[in-house]
Amino acid sequence: MRRLLRLLLVLALFAGAAYLLWPSVQRAQRYAALMASPAPTTRSLPNPLPGQRFVDTWGGARSEGRKHEGVDIFAARGTPVHATTRGVVLNVGENRLGGRTVMVLGPGGQRHYYAHLDRYADLQEGQWIEAGRVVGYVGDSGNAKGTPTHLHYGIYQLGGAVNPYPLLRQD
Ligand SMILES: [Zn+2]
Repeated sequence: MRRLLRLLLVLALFAGAAYLLWPSVQRAQRYAALMASPAPTTRSLPNPLPGQRFVDTWGGARSEGRKHEGVDIFAARGTPVHATTRGVVLNVGENRLGGRTVMVLGPGGQRHYYAHLDRYADLQEGQWIEAGRVVGYVGDSGNAKGTPTHLHYGIYQLGGAVNPYPLLRQD
């Protein structure tokens, strides 16, 4: 009888541990699948500001001898910014150049950078999001202060920034 009770106790402990660990197992699987997914190809990403046209400004001269490492999409202050991919929110925070920014880890391990936001959407670092999820709202924060409000959108991978322009659809 004691033996049976002990066996039941051990089984209950295993079941409890499996129950508690299951979400982190699922998270790890989703993360692995994301990293193993192919990076976006030409015109495969939706416009983060649907309906707003934009031009290719990759490599344009910027302050302090920098080159423009992204695409600028202009829109009224407060226009919602939609994630171009699914992924994991890596960072929600402020920096000198980008102002209020959100960084999302996307397919193939690329990082998607949304900058000059007026404010953030309700996001937590480590959170899983689907493509189309609102990550923030257009503004002029950071070194864009006082310029026409726009989203600076960048894509980074191992080896540095890549031009998002050819990967994006305009619609
Ligand atoms: Zn820019």
